Parts: sequence; structure tokens; C-alpha cells
Amino acid sequence: MAKDCELIDHCCFFNKFKNRQSIAWQGIFRIYCLGGLPFLCERRRFHFESGQQPSENIMPTGKLVSRGFAALP
Ligand code: SF4
Repeated sequence: MAKDCELIDHCCFFNKFKNRQSIAWQGIFRIYCLGGLPFLCERRRFHFESGQQPSENIMPTGKLVSRGFAALP
């Protein structure tokens, strides 16, 4: 069974957006945070390289949350 990302409890992005229910958001969480492929996450890579978190509005892709995406439930 897939394991959640080991940073999930402390990730400001996940904690800000985790209650979003739209398919697009849930897909992001499944792909990266909830045991999909967290090793592809740019936020995670940045954390392990710098010891810091990027802004909460940076997605696992490394791009800013777009206005359209932010408007989704
Ligand atoms: S956004 Fe990245 S670092 Fe944060 S919980 Fe998801 S996979 Fe982990």
C-alpha cells in the first residue's frame, strides 16, 4: 500500500488546501501527497535541499497556484 509523503503533517501547502474537494485538487493530492509519487514533488525536493519550505502557494509541480485552480472547491 502506498505511503503518504513523510512531510504531509508539516507541509503548509497540503495543510492550506487539503480540504478542497474538486477532482483537480484531489488528483494533485493523490498523485503527490497521499502516496502516489511524492518523490516527484518540487516542494519536497526543495525541502530536502534547503531545509525550508517554499511558499504555501507553490504547488508540487513547482508552479504558483493559478487563479483558476485557487477558485476550485
Ligand atoms: S506537497 Fe509535496 S511536500 Fe507537501 S505533502 Fe504533498 S508531496 Fe509532500
